[in-house]
Amino acid sequence: MSSPENQVSPLAAPVASLWGVGEERARLLARLGIFTIEDLLLHKPRRYEDRRKFLPIRDLKLNEPATVRGTIIAAGIKRFKKGTRAMFECVFEDDSARLHCRWWQAQPWMPDWYAVGREFLLFGKLDDAKKPRTFTHPETELVEPGDDEFIHVNRIVPVHPLTEGLSARVLRSLIWRALEKHEAQIEESPVGRVTPCAPYSAITRRRAEDCAPYLNVPARANAVRMIHFPEELTDAEIARQRLALDEFVTLQFQIHSRRKKFEANATALPCAGDNRLMKPFLAQLGFKLTAAQANVLKEIRADMGGRHPMRRLLQGDVGSGKTAVAACSALMALESGFNVALMAPTEILAEQHCRNFSRWFELLGVQVELQTGSKKAEGRGQRAEAGRSPTSLSQLPSAIFIGTHALLTGGFDLPKLGLVIIDEQHKFGVAQRETLVRKGNYPHLLVMTATPIPRTLGLTLYGDLDVSTIDELPGGRGQIKTFVRTTEKLPKVFEFIREKIATGRQAYIVYPRVEVADTDKDIKAVTKEFENVQKALTPFKAGLLHGRIKSAEKEKVMAAFRANEIKALVATSLIEVGVDVPNATVMLIENAEHFGLAQLHQLRGRIGRGAHESFCILVSDAQHPEAQARLKILEDTTDGFKIAEADLKLRGPGELLGQQQSGAMKLRFGNLAEDLHLVRQARTLVGNLR
Ligand code: ADP
Ligand code: MG
Repeated sequence: MSSPENQVSPLAAPVASLWGVGEERARLLARLGIFTIEDLLLHKPRRYEDRRKFLPIRDLKLNEPATVRGTIIAAGIKRFKKGTRAMFECVFEDDSARLHCRWWQAQPWMPDWYAVGREFLLFGKLDDAKKPRTFTHPETELVEPGDDEFIHVNRIVPVHPLTEGLSARVLRSLIWRALEKHEAQIEESPVGRVTPCAPYSAITRRRAEDCAPYLNVPARANAVRMIHFPEELTDAEIARQRLALDEFVTLQFQIHSRRKKFEANATALPCAGDNRLMKPFLAQLGFKLTAAQANVLKEIRADMGGRHPMRRLLQGDVGSGKTAVAACSALMALESGFNVALMAPTEILAEQHCRNFSRWFELLGVQVELQTGSKKAEGRGQRAEAGRSPTSLSQLPSAIFIGTHALLTGGFDLPKLGLVIIDEQHKFGVAQRETLVRKGNYPHLLVMTATPIPRTLGLTLYGDLDVSTIDELPGGRGQIKTFVRTTEKLPKVFEFIREKIATGRQAYIVYPRVEVADTDKDIKAVTKEFENVQKALTPFKAGLLHGRIKSAEKEKVMAAFRANEIKALVATSLIEVGVDVPNATVMLIENAEHFGLAQLHQLRGRIGRGAHESFCILVSDAQHPEAQARLKILEDTTDGFKIAEADLKLRGPGELLGQQQSGAMKLRFGNLAEDLHLVRQARTLVGNLR
């Protein structure tokens, strides 16, 4: 609903300008995020009810939510014992049967509202097969004889997200009224301006499947009406897709203009390198780069020698060898005389990188410096912090600085920063990414992630980054077998772990919590389970690792585990990212249902790094079919891409995006788990419109 810049759209008027919205209602609407007429028109229904005919109460079936229409024949408060809480109960009746409805917490207004003789629509689900038929906490809507009948019954009716004090009926009336008054003012969007929009009636006679989206999309104004008051349920989906397409187009425009602006303002530092360090590095690495790694490096080299600063996302499943790619990229910048910053999400990972890079780079005469919260680089980092003049610094040979978020916090300004590498991007927010990059004078940026990003998210969230994918794992890796087991089987599982340790291998044992919480005693915690594990594994030594342990102690435990002195590492998901100990071949995760799919995949990525066969055991007593289905996915595949797509479908984008969500535009109609085809269309459209 864009409008010429100097002319304010009538839809931007406050919602209080609508007849029937006073101060109190405006306040309630604000709670729903509705401030303007436009907000109201775009308030997406939560579901629809087909009220063209009602199910007789007699025909209600178990486990099938339905709407019935009944008149109250009895109502009252029930108290079980004196002083205990009171329940409110009503008996409704239609021509076929009676239905009891109850609310566990009687409210003072209920007896007046649910008065004998009043007629209500009731949406709910039968409690169980027992008589009498009962709904607990149904959604109800008063049927008022008279004027608005054509809005609320005898049609497909929207049910919107509500807030206390605002009924479905009132909100529906307001939206109806807003449409009557303002529909004609709803402007066409860029989508409608480049594609012929079919008239409303022509669209509604088709079924959604026949209506190839974007050839026969309804006009935007039609879509806004159809999303609230569809003639058929399929219309609502057609309308949603049209409005979602508008959102994705807006998003793509934002991405494009950000990228354009960036390219107009930034010139790249010449960082392609000359192989002076790369050649000896590759010779001493101990393995040959995979074809996938080599390809990605070609793309990176082209970027780093190009006109615009690199903005590249490198995705590769856990264990695909992103670190080696990072090292090669760093060498290109170092060869060109620039400094490099590498940022990791945890101290453990930063330290691990520091160890690897020191081992690799020392021979080449490149300085590697660690900068974490608990350990500041001695030497250059500090000198930079102390604000020494950059000229004296830039005369030093170039170096790579490795750290956590601490690299972001004030004062640490690197001169001649040529390349910034962010490892495991899914742990960083967009805002953080921006802060880091602003540190230097448009250094090249390489973002690495092990959570393969479902394409919809990639195209929207990372739309301003170019994407490289390492789609092959280095050879010579043992297989990972995954099993889901119940806690009953734990003794056997520990026996199995002891056997593996006896043959020289090591294990990770992961719990969701650090400490047992009072509210959720069933969720196991490392601090408590550690003793049990120690007992179960005697005489083998176990170590404990979680976020509340001091850094120095953490480092000691990790070192002992790496040195194979500690045989089992009992930890929280802290070890989820990056930790690389190839001799560890068993991953036991208890209360597995408490982890996200992507997270479990990451954890599993800690094993299968050596030549030995590896085993991942997910322990869960979860009864819920959805929880079981999720764990089954891990049993079935080790393909991170499939897992990420499944996770997105099961849990929605929120979980995957984490902090990044705050940087993303809020989508009312678009669904990042389902709408890949719309995201693609939006990209094409924006491409055509530019
Ligand atoms: P990730 O992509 O998860 O960050 P890493 O970079 O930690 O993976 O690599 C996992 C393991 O694979 C490391 O031990 C690394 O040394 C090894 N590795 C990386 N590239 C190759 C390769 N081309 N051939 C053999 N091993 C490799
Ligand atoms: Mg890694």
